[in-house]
Amino acid sequence: MPARLPALRLAAGRERSLHLRHPWVFSGAVAHVDGQPQAGDTVEVRAHDGALLALAAYSPQSQIRARVWSFAPVRVDAALLAERVRRAVAWRAAMLDARHDACRLVHGESDGLPGAIADRYGRVVVLQLLSAGAEAWRDAIADALVAHAGAACVVERSDADVRALEGLAPRSGVLRGELPDPVLMHEGGLVYAVDVLRGQKTGFYLDQRDNRRIVGERVRGAEVLNAFCYTGGFTFAALAGGAKSVLSIDSSAEALAAARANLARNAWLHGTAEWLEGDVFAALRRLREAGRRFDAVVLDPPKFAPTAKHAPKAARAYKDVNLWALKLLRPGGLLATFSCSGGIDAALFQKIVAGAALDAGADAVIEARLTASADHPVALAFPEGDYLKGLLVRRR
Ligand code: SAH
Repeated sequence: MPARLPALRLAAGRERSLHLRHPWVFSGAVAHVDGQPQAGDTVEVRAHDGALLALAAYSPQSQIRARVWSFAPVRVDAALLAERVRRAVAWRAAMLDARHDACRLVHGESDGLPGAIADRYGRVVVLQLLSAGAEAWRDAIADALVAHAGAACVVERSDADVRALEGLAPRSGVLRGELPDPVLMHEGGLVYAVDVLRGQKTGFYLDQRDNRRIVGERVRGAEVLNAFCYTGGFTFAALAGGAKSVLSIDSSAEALAAARANLARNAWLHGTAEWLEGDVFAALRRLREAGRRFDAVVLDPPKFAPTAKHAPKAARAYKDVNLWALKLLRPGGLLATFSCSGGIDAALFQKIVAGAALDAGADAVIEARLTASADHPVALAFPEGDYLKGLLVRRR
């Protein structure tokens, strides 16, 4: 154990979550800070009786006052973080091949790297540093991605709102290598250009990879509606799966422009693509009034409820879109409906969709329960990582 690290001493009884290997120490659990740690510094986490529980990154401004690097008494240094990156990358090797060269390489807490996200698009890796601890080890993590992930270019996209909670300013730009233009990636044999500097999140919603395949396999000959389409992930998966037509809706003009450009890159696709810029809530009502009906509907809205506090309002929004989607669905049709809200768990989401079906007068069954793709693992000790849930619902 390195000598004289600063230490957080917990209030009596507050060590329990650390015994359960949960990696967060909340501010209310800290009784005393020994020494003068700065943001991102490694600190010891000690129980009220002084027992060493973990080594963690200190974040003085955040409610999550420290995030655990290790529950074992090891030295927290660049070599430790590089080994975590190496292990995370190696574990995903089998998920990449000529048809799929994009995946999440590092998934924060679930990969032992709290606050660090790395997404791979071809040979470009996009890094998001969302906590004071991850921020402090920027260079070590970027170097490890070059060494272990074969990244020709590492780009930083640390501009998510959650950084403000850690007292961190937004930051983005190229960290290593040169950025190709365009950045191209392949998923399911489709090619996409990804705007890694200005696109949403790190540029693409990799968490829906398996679900795009699942939907693509079920829509041959179908008329499909893809609501909240972003750059057209589900649209292209559906067209590749033989859909007759896809109507895609998003409020972002930039996302739709990128989607149209992606269609041109996959010129072999048959089927008709129609793009609609606008608000999904209003658009679904208008489609219904216009008498449109679909054989399949995909609903992949943004995070309406980041935390449980937002759940009641978010629940109404989820119910509304699901209700109108079900009204637009022909009997026998398929609804693929998602929530990426941490504040709404799978059981509540199912209740909301059930309520929507009831109000829509739709008799429906759950064909499958969907989650984030396998490259977004959920550590058993960190259930907060289980944010994406989906239902494949068949209208009878
Ligand atoms: N399914 C997509 C990801 C969707 S992300 C994929 O596989 O890539 C959610 C999208 O919803 C974003 O593109 C955002 O621009 C869009 N959005 C958010 N609110 C909206 C609204 N009220 N109406 C239409 N689109 C909206």
